[in-house]
Amino acid sequence: MDGPLQGQTVLVTGASRGIGAAIVERLASEGARPIIHYGRDKAAAEALLARIGGRGLIVQADLSAVEGPFEMWQRAVDAAGRIHALINNAGIRTEISIEASAEDWKAAWQKEFQINFFAAADLCKEAIRHFKAQGGGRIVNIASRAGQRGYAADAMPYGATKAALINLTKSIARSFGADGVTAVAIAPGWVRTDMAEEFIATHGKPAAVDDIPIGEMAAPTDMAELVAFVLRPSQASLNGATLDVNGGSYIR
Ligand code: NAD
Repeated sequence: MDGPLQGQTVLVTGASRGIGAAIVERLASEGARPIIHYGRDKAAAEALLARIGGRGLIVQADLSAVEGPFEMWQRAVDAAGRIHALINNAGIRTEISIEASAEDWKAAWQKEFQINFFAAADLCKEAIRHFKAQGGGRIVNIASRAGQRGYAADAMPYGATKAALINLTKSIARSFGADGVTAVAIAPGWVRTDMAEEFIATHGKPAAVDDIPIGEMAAPTDMAELVAFVLRPSQASLNGATLDVNGGSYIR
């Protein structure tokens, strides 16, 4: 398919649903060949591949497993050959109170950091090595407004992982530009996905939208369009930025 992303192979993590699935559909519509990563939902990944006319690949990996990201990257390279971009989108949001037991508290922080940050860092490491050897590439890390402004008392690990992801993005941008490797973070406020639905089910919709000046959550397609824009070859200088997509709920 023709389009501005023609010829690019792009690995998208956590792509079987939500923002990741929207990213895959958008990238494919602009000519890219997505690699759809999924953790558990094989049927959803296969349905997504069918929706983009079969013009992509699928890889499975549990990113909560310590070796999961490294093995997944290797399988993706084996299947695809050259990869041009990595979108670290997979993530979880766990609620844990300071009143929780020490055991539950530590488990929540460790799982959240493993999936939201360590897995992304491992994939960045492997992607940078691949991109350096292959003539360049781009990384987009899906962070969060929570990583910029701090987060709620009952979900502090989430904000901390996203702050770490933003910082990693900046380090990559500063360090590997000369090798043709650029990195950008996207920091959404609430986006209408299962993750947001779980929050609304517990806390109610006003808790999500009351502090958003435009009064509504973003659509996954808004994020997908932005990711496609970041990957355009014409965006050579877009490096190290944190792109805020939050309806005006955090302005800096
Ligand atoms: P979602 O829950 O719909 O999707 C998350 C994806 O991550 C799923 O595909 C899931 O399978 C994958 N994933 C989770 N744990 C995994 C594991 N152990 N191994 C492999 N894959 C795993 O959520 P979403 O809203 O689409 O979130 C996508 C990204 O956007 C996340 O990083 C999230 O933190 C970020 N984000 C979301 C919002 C929001 O309001 N929805 C806001 C800001 C940032």
